[in-house]
Amino acid sequence: MRWPPTRFWFLSAVAIVTIVFPVAGPAVAAPKPNFVVIFADDLGYGDLGCYGHPTIATPHLDRMAAEGQRWTSFYSAAPVCTPSRAALLTGRLPIRSGMCDDRRRVLFPDSAGGLPQREITMAEALKQVGYATACIGKWHLGHLPQYLPTSQGFDSYFGIPYSNDMDRVADSPGGREAFWKPKTEYWNVPLMRNQEIVERPADQTTITRRYTDEAIAFIQASRDGPFYCYLAHNLPHVPLFASTEFLGASARGLYGDVVQEIDAGVGRILQTLRDLKLDRRTLVVFTSDNGPWLVFNQHGGSAGLLRDGKGSTWEGGMREPALFWWPGIVKPGVVREMGSTMDVFATCIALAGAKLPDDRVIDGLDVSPVLLGTGKSPRQTMFFYRGTRLYAVRHGQYKAHFITRSAYGSDKAQEHDPPLLFHLGHDPSERFNVASEHPQVVAEIRTIAGDHQKAMVPGEPQLQKKL
Ligand code: MG
Repeated sequence: MRWPPTRFWFLSAVAIVTIVFPVAGPAVAAPKPNFVVIFADDLGYGDLGCYGHPTIATPHLDRMAAEGQRWTSFYSAAPVCTPSRAALLTGRLPIRSGMCDDRRRVLFPDSAGGLPQREITMAEALKQVGYATACIGKWHLGHLPQYLPTSQGFDSYFGIPYSNDMDRVADSPGGREAFWKPKTEYWNVPLMRNQEIVERPADQTTITRRYTDEAIAFIQASRDGPFYCYLAHNLPHVPLFASTEFLGASARGLYGDVVQEIDAGVGRILQTLRDLKLDRRTLVVFTSDNGPWLVFNQHGGSAGLLRDGKGSTWEGGMREPALFWWPGIVKPGVVREMGSTMDVFATCIALAGAKLPDDRVIDGLDVSPVLLGTGKSPRQTMFFYRGTRLYAVRHGQYKAHFITRSAYGSDKAQEHDPPLLFHLGHDPSERFNVASEHPQVVAEIRTIAGDHQKAMVPGEPQLQKKL
């Protein structure tokens, strides 16, 4: 017999493999994943190539969709900016934080309120488990120092702290006239670094590129991880601006040029992650805060086949494009189950091994089983608020509207008893009311809505406070 015997080598090899690559066990923790959350402003459900737009070319987002997941029933938690952002960052319906209102529907430059300190943002939750955090772009959760990103868990901030159509200068063309041929000097919006104004008016023609540059610089500086980059573009919210390089690039006019510049920025960010070999350690999410602003004609986007747009609780106001990308981890495909921006909060916290706050109601659900391809979405129900009032409830494929009202600046609220009922599978455009055919579904959704409203404790209203 040879010495040492073959069995010796075999057992030694097993021992070495076991020591170096333990099968399981808490002793060797996997590195925490990085998160990049890219939030567009007023981008509609129908505005990307991968969602069927015929003339806007979005090859980078299309590739992201093909390599990852493209969701078709993904909702923001409000049809306008401020409450939608509050929900994304806290995983809570905006009524709970007081970040919604029936008259002043968003924060303005004369607002004195903001996201209350008692709210726990995704940045604060991730910081507790060692994440570097950066907020780049539109904030819109309060521009006073105590409400800025640097007071809400972010290590740094670079961006315009509210909408790009605010601080209108007095001698700009009146009404919507200024938007048809926008000039950056018509809107005296500040550009901030951390808590300082560094440029005013912000040069909006280069803002999309500069936000992308900042995101890339943060990713490069934080490559050892883990990190969380929240990139909230101010565009394609009106007034529309694009860099010289992108003007005239699309067949969809200025709106298309703006979307194509955002798309190119996403491409640069994903390439940076590949170059740094971080693509297999980073979840990238792309979605939008609310539907398209339809009253701006060709300067507003498209909700595709969905009804209505920004400001309304019809599907076009709150159903968003949503892409999830994490090569090797996120199972590629089209997801037709329900999800919400609030679920980004709960899902990332779960993937990071951080703690979900247990002293308050969290409306976000962990959809990581869907991302990983191991299970179904836990989300069966979605509540549609306009301001502080519950207008509609989706449960399964059915959506009941108790109140309807079209987008900004249009008609009055109409109450419905019995509610209007639509089957969103059969009728995603909400055209055919089937309430009379399904009284038991109406009754079930009525009960869900009633129980939800009975348990709701609204937060102190923040949007009415003025300086
Ligand atoms: Mg918006």
